[in-house]
Amino acid sequence: MLTFELIEKHGEHEEVIFCHNKEAGLKAIIAIHNTSLGPALGGTRMWNYNNEEEALVDVLRLSKGMTYKASAAGLNLGGGKAVIIGDPKSQKTEALFRAFGTYVNSLQGKYITAEDVGTTVHDMEYVFMETPYVTGIPVAFGGSGDPSPYTAHGTLMGIKAAVKEKLGSDSLKGVRVAVQGLGNVGSHLVDFLVKEGALVTIADIDTIKTKRISEKHGLEILDPDKIITSECDVLAPCALGAVINDNTIGNLKCQTVAGGANNQLAEPRHGEQLMELGILYAPDYVVNAGGLMNVFVELEGYSSERAFEKTTQVFDNLMHVFKISKEEGIATHRAADRLAERRITQIGDLRKHHHGRTARPFSTLKEMTRRQK
Ligand code: NAD
Repeated sequence: MLTFELIEKHGEHEEVIFCHNKEAGLKAIIAIHNTSLGPALGGTRMWNYNNEEEALVDVLRLSKGMTYKASAAGLNLGGGKAVIIGDPKSQKTEALFRAFGTYVNSLQGKYITAEDVGTTVHDMEYVFMETPYVTGIPVAFGGSGDPSPYTAHGTLMGIKAAVKEKLGSDSLKGVRVAVQGLGNVGSHLVDFLVKEGALVTIADIDTIKTKRISEKHGLEILDPDKIITSECDVLAPCALGAVINDNTIGNLKCQTVAGGANNQLAEPRHGEQLMELGILYAPDYVVNAGGLMNVFVELEGYSSERAFEKTTQVFDNLMHVFKISKEEGIATHRAADRLAERRITQIGDLRKHHHGRTARPFSTLKEMTRRQK
């Protein structure tokens, strides 16, 4: 398919920028999906794509997802994403990331980047040398560092909302939560859950992690293949995507699914199926927005305390999603999309009329420029 046809097929993107620098070996694409609510924010993924079409489809899809995530999170941010085509294991150089940084800079803050799959905060230091429009940079550079504890704290809030809605309880005391995946997000989540008095079971394919966390809190370890269908109140996927699929869905024994992993539904129809089964699904991109909230706080001038405080908003955001789902008789993943779309229309129109489309929500951009010097 032709490039322009592909772009038009994958949603109404405001801008798609192709970046090419021969000396630096840079081939990258920046997609800006929507800036109605604020500058488009989204990480830079470096991946050895099989072809350019695959890279383009990925960046179009991911940037659109960021628009929805930021909007449903209640943030003044739009959606964007970048992909660098290349092998992250062998093709990273200072020149590559600095060349990429000059492209980000040329967009003058319409797109703000961050690390993502295949890139690290250290790669972002090179980008930061060429542009202030980078976030999620190391603490030593005045940034917010690792977002995972904030993602985990937001996920805890998501679990609390799901428990309130499904079980009618304000407390997690005695609530059985099965956590799949004990990486950056899952390990912090387990700490928070144990502190709340939840009865936690854990699974990870990495037995060193399961042993360490089980010993730390005295928790039962389940087989990684069995945890998804184990009997529990809350299933918290914190590893891979597509865990709710044709093979698992009929065997689920949970009351609600609320976890930090991205793209938990193999296909959208599985959201409707969960609803029919009476299992409450807390939409993943609403639950795992804590990391994005953390970088948003970085744009405003960072404080860890404020970032943790901000992640508590995940609770209200989810209650809003559940309300739309009940009132309009639609599955919760559709309700999350509606919430996001309505905010883009309502607040986007308001900003257009009163502040102009390019109004920046932050004191920030000035602050970012200052920080870079
Ligand atoms: P991570 O790589 O640190 O952890 C993932 C863990 O899952 C690893 O310990 C891995 O061994 C385990 N795992 C892999 N396959 C498994 C299986 N079949 N069964 C059980 N465990 C398995 O990643 P992370 O940063 O903790 O992110 C986890 C999920 O949350 C991902 O889907 C990610 O996209 C999403 N997410 C993360 C953040 C963040 O701030 N890190 C933000 C938003 C969303």
